[in-house]
Amino acid sequence: MIIVMRRGVADEEIAGIEERIRQEGLLPHTSRGVETVVIGVIGQRPEGMLERMERMPGVDQVTPISKPYKLASKDFCAGPTTIQLGDAVLGSDDVVVMAGPCTVESREQVVETARGVRAHGAHVLRGGAYKPRSSPYSFQGLGPEGLRLLREAKEISGLPIITEVMEPGTVELVCEYADVLQIGARNCQNYPLLREIGRVHKPVMLKRGPGCTVEEWILSAEHIMSHGNMQVMLCERGIKTFETATRNTLDLSAVPLVKRITHLPVIVDPSHSTGKWYLVKSMCQAAVAAGADGVLIEVHPTPDTALCDGGQSLTVENFAACVEGIRRVAEAVGRRVPSRTPSRELVFT
Ligand code: PEP
Ligand code: MN
Repeated sequence: MIIVMRRGVADEEIAGIEERIRQEGLLPHTSRGVETVVIGVIGQRPEGMLERMERMPGVDQVTPISKPYKLASKDFCAGPTTIQLGDAVLGSDDVVVMAGPCTVESREQVVETARGVRAHGAHVLRGGAYKPRSSPYSFQGLGPEGLRLLREAKEISGLPIITEVMEPGTVELVCEYADVLQIGARNCQNYPLLREIGRVHKPVMLKRGPGCTVEEWILSAEHIMSHGNMQVMLCERGIKTFETATRNTLDLSAVPLVKRITHLPVIVDPSHSTGKWYLVKSMCQAAVAAGADGVLIEVHPTPDTALCDGGQSLTVENFAACVEGIRRVAEAVGRRVPSRTPSRELVFT
């Protein structure tokens, strides 16, 4: 159930509604927009509550919600969720570019990539320290050492860091280094991990599971939000279909669909969805045309020698061309790729 308050409602009236919801044994979730205040009600609604709420002072409209997700639903929020990421605001007109290697391999590799992507317009540096590899014999990431190298690359480039956290036991450690936590596709429905992420105060990017429907994916976001962390962004990274010509099938229709039903920002990962570096630029452009709030791109100084996902990684030069392409589409659809602010000039060692 959602309660839309009258325009110009008084603070005491809002507090009165919140108190009444608690008395009914449920939880209020208040969202204040520029003009409207919306109070979402979480929990099983007792008989007659809807009518009782309609009679309360300050209430304009009460609507029952039958969707399985609530906090993630657009109905529950007075405006889009926005998250400040370095020089850009995710969820606004800004198109946010996150870029970097699949895996942190060495200081030289991550610093060189950070420097390259920063120079060509990235807002956030990505890089995995803990890697979910399909084979137990593949490189599993540098772990804590990878986190330390990411911190160094952040200090040098000024770019905030996004990195994956794979298990509840490492959430605290990863939080010490990351500006944004990444939940990988394989963990989209790892509910104990989602619960743990829900308790921290850090933005989180939730990748869609390769076998998840849109509803299951949003419900996973709801798991995080129901534990208190509202700074959730969703990432479409391709789903499993019969097609084998690409690594996964990028479900671009999910972008406007999810933006229609939730208030959460949506990122597209053209690297893991296609698996092919030469498809990345066009899928980035298509993503922005479809309304994506950002893109997550794998970049490596020498993709041929990459320890992971070299075939889908852009060189720094190709990344520069990709950002240019994104910029053109962003402008065509009334958005922008923010440039770096002069006060945060690059310092290289
Ligand atoms: C990654 O971002 O490097 C990654 C492992 O992605 P996904 O979880 O989408 O496979
Ligand atoms: Mn990867």
